Amino acid sequence: MTLLTTTSNARPALLGGAPAFTERLPLVRPALGRTDLLARRHADILASGILTNGPTVRELEETVAARLGVPHVVGVSSCTSGLMLVLQAVEAAGPVVMPSFTFSASAHAVAWAGGTPVFAEVSEDSLTLDPEDAQQTLDALGGTARALTATHVYGTPCRTEALQAVADRAGVPLVYDAAHGLGSVRRGTPVGGFGVAEVFSLSPTKVVVAGEGGLVATHDADLARAIRLGRDYGNPGDYDCRFVGLNARMSELHAATALHSLGLLDSALARRRAMVRLFWRELGAVRGVRGPTLDPDDVSTYKDLTLVVDQDECGLTARDLAAALGAEGIDSRHYYDPPIHQQQAYAHLPRRELPLTDRLAASVISPALWSHMTDDQVRGIADAVRRIVAHADEIVSVRGGVES
Ligand SMILES: *Cc1c(COP(=O)(O)O)cnc(C)c1O
Repeated sequence: MTLLTTTSNARPALLGGAPAFTERLPLVRPALGRTDLLARRHADILASGILTNGPTVRELEETVAARLGVPHVVGVSSCTSGLMLVLQAVEAAGPVVMPSFTFSASAHAVAWAGGTPVFAEVSEDSLTLDPEDAQQTLDALGGTARALTATHVYGTPCRTEALQAVADRAGVPLVYDAAHGLGSVRRGTPVGGFGVAEVFSLSPTKVVVAGEGGLVATHDADLARAIRLGRDYGNPGDYDCRFVGLNARMSELHAATALHSLGLLDSALARRRAMVRLFWRELGAVRGVRGPTLDPDDVSTYKDLTLVVDQDECGLTARDLAAALGAEGIDSRHYYDPPIHQQQAYAHLPRRELPLTDRLAASVISPALWSHMTDDQVRGIADAVRRIVAHADEIVSVRGGVES
């Protein structure tokens, strides 16, 4: 990656200046370190003849359980399948209160388990499920809700105490989509031990990667047994399936990749935290651009470097910023726009207005971030954002001044 030296008032590339990066900064690049060591482990697995759900999967499960301080961890084929199996096991075949501001799979898992998503707002500061709105949404369902789910979005831990109190009052299980949360900590407790279960993802955009894969963490031995059975079609081994399960097993090769990646997690977390701090320090005081709030003593994985752009203050929309960053050679993504309640797949659900979610979804942008990015690359992104916002008026006039 070549970073050109740009001065702090250089014109943005969108307005004819030189781009900050001559080689594009892709959104994510999985960090796998010594892939030669991983290849050796894969070769051993191939030679062993045990290709799925064997000793490597068990080693991964035990390693993660020890790290999280949670008694049961079950390896599955993806976070989506893990969530499907958990929601099936807790009999969530009815209304399930959940945020709309999350990845679509959070809702898909509910639907596949026979449930119906009922969307609630997130908190403006943290972007995680708002306990008060979740409470009101549950109250409005008059006791028919079957579960509550929440997402540690971008790795920011949810306000777990408040959400647990809400779930307890409604008498429903609380399930976490912890896709981004392997390494996050809420008030000293690792994410993974909250609610009835938490489900991690190991897909390639996450911090710990397996290629594809997921992990279900739970304190509940019966629930863990149900997931182990459910990931294997519901077949305990006698071919007399106890319920309609899935093939949601994890392969040995994926487990080995996850173990290798997990070994790099602590350094990746430290690096990501340092990069996010560097970004905000380098950005300095820019009006109308902030990050999601992290409560004191909480730890985020910083799965993403997320900016919330207030158009009124900054003059630009998140889409304007994305276009201008793109011209600088910096990829970005609008996680999560459109929010789930606005997606075609859920257009059949009863309409509930979620004005805060709509506004936040239109305001977020996650520029490129990966664990082995250099400080100069991070400075280049911060510098680009600052220069782009400084030229907000000109950029808006280039796109015609149309309010989006
Ligand atoms: C990535 C992601 C998922 C899906 O994970 P898979 O392992 O790909 O099934 C679910 N929820 C959130 C919030 C995600 O970001």
